[in-house]
Amino acid sequence: MFIIPVMAVLYGLILGSFFNVLICRIPEKKSILRPASHCPKCKTPIKPLHNIPLFSYLLLGGKCHSCKQPIAITYPLIEALTAAAALAIWYFYPPSPHPLSWQSITVYSIRAAFLLLIIPISMIDLRHYIIPDLFTLPILAIAAGIAFLPGNPTLLDALYGILGGGGLLLAIGAIGSLLLKKDAMGGGDIKLMAAAGALWGAQTALLSILFGALIGSVYGVILMAIKKINSEHQIPFGPFLGAGIWIAVLFGEKLLSAYLQFADRLAGG
Ligand SMILES: [Zn+2]
Repeated sequence: MFIIPVMAVLYGLILGSFFNVLICRIPEKKSILRPASHCPKCKTPIKPLHNIPLFSYLLLGGKCHSCKQPIAITYPLIEALTAAAALAIWYFYPPSPHPLSWQSITVYSIRAAFLLLIIPISMIDLRHYIIPDLFTLPILAIAAGIAFLPGNPTLLDALYGILGGGGLLLAIGAIGSLLLKKDAMGGGDIKLMAAAGALWGAQTALLSILFGALIGSVYGVILMAIKKINSEHQIPFGPFLGAGIWIAVLFGEKLLSAYLQFADRLAGG
């Protein structure tokens, strides 16, 4: 049965290579199909042998075959990260073992695709401080659309999820904007969490925001402590929300029941 994890890794590597194209071209509003992959420095088209995810980077020693300039380390890193993400989904988030129907397989595929898309979304937010509508609007439309299929999530689950995920961030953003007198929350973050809420329901959406805010605060405090930034510094929230979604979806149930057990013991003893 080790064939499936190997397939997951290979699939992740190829998908990661495609994510690299999205990360470079979508913020610049360039076509993702044309021109074919080329070196960003010397513009030489990349031969198929030099375009194999991860492997070609190692084969070329991290340098462009024609101009010998270094290839950004982010390319192989994104490919490796996507492969690891695909493996983690296979291992920690398998399709439910209950009788699989075409509805549950559809919902599962869309949820898994969303988890993987968090990688290019986070990279673009880190670099450009924006989560393009090109990602969030189709995801939100598809996520809301599958609620109309029979089975889970139901229409009501999706509605609560959209309100819980998107609505909470909208409210936090509105309060933040009043207090800070500047835009405190990006519209992309709100749409991202509305989509997560539509796909997984309100509980997972709220846990995602909680985890995302915790990780983001720790990161912010560490950055301030090493004096690289002050409180005026802009920190993109997307990557933290994305990490929060991953933790909530893969481990939310376990973490929540462990927490409730712990709280029970405190109350009892
Ligand atoms: Zn080159």
